[in-house]
Formats: sequence, structure tokens, C-alpha cells
Amino acid sequence: MRIGFGYDVHSFAEGRELWLGGIKIPHHQGLLGHSDADVVIHAICDALLGASALGDIGKHFPDTDIRYKNIDSKILLAETAKLLAVAGFVIQNIDTTIALQSPKIAPYIEQMRSTLSGILNLELGQVSVKATTTEKLGFEGREEGVSAYAIVLLA
Ligand SMILES: [Zn+2]
Repeated sequence: MRIGFGYDVHSFAEGRELWLGGIKIPHHQGLLGHSDADVVIHAICDALLGASALGDIGKHFPDTDIRYKNIDSKILLAETAKLLAVAGFVIQNIDTTIALQSPKIAPYIEQMRSTLSGILNLELGQVSVKATTTEKLGFEGREEGVSAYAIVLLA
């Protein structure tokens, strides 16, 4: 058994789409990044790469590489899963927490779980997505950005 942890942050910017956990969420602003800035998927990728000691998302998908400009992070997750499979790892479960003040994402949580489990060929019960506000504290509370935490267990 191997455990891995991932953490990511992206800042809000006008004129961007908001993608979280592979789902496009209606909002007046989105997250800034070289890719689609899906902070949830990035945290999961880092947790997977951490658990397998294969490096991190920046190593495999550098933001200096034009191939990853505005890329759908679901592709990065699928690529990461391939790396783990090649190395002989099997994902047991994933748990994530998204910290953001707004918008409310409770209505999208189940869609995120089914999207993520679909990409990773996991059962719904193996993928957990949770959200919390930070009680208006910090950059998440000031709606300057979103952070995401992920923990995974591999066999
Ligand atoms: Zn990121």
C-alpha cells in the first residue's frame, strides 16, 4: 500500500471558464492557468504521482510546453493514470477537499465523482469529493482563488 498527497491553488480571473473536478461550473469568473486550471484534478494528479514516487504534475506536464496550453485536465488525469498502471500501481481510493467561498458547488459534486471515477475506471464509491468554505478567511475566503487537497491510496 502506498499513500500520496496533492495540493494545488489557482487564482480567479475574469474571462476564464471555471472547471472543477472535470465539470464546467457556471460562474462570473474562472481559474487562471496554462491548462484549464482544474485545481481539483491537478491535486489528484499530484497525489497519484506522489504515492507512486513518479514526480509531480509539473515534471510530466510542464506549463512551458505549448502542448498543454488550455488543455482539458481530464486528459492529464488519464495520462497520469496510464503512468501509474505502467508502473504496476492500482488505485484503491481517492479523497479530495475543495476550499472555495463561491460559487456553491454542492450541486456538482456527484457529477465530479462520476466523471473522475469514469476516467480512472474506478467505482463511484472509490472517489470522494468534498467542498468547504474557509469562513471568508484567506485567499479562498476573499474569492481570490481556489485550493484543492487530495489523498490517494495505491496498491
Ligand atoms: Zn494546477
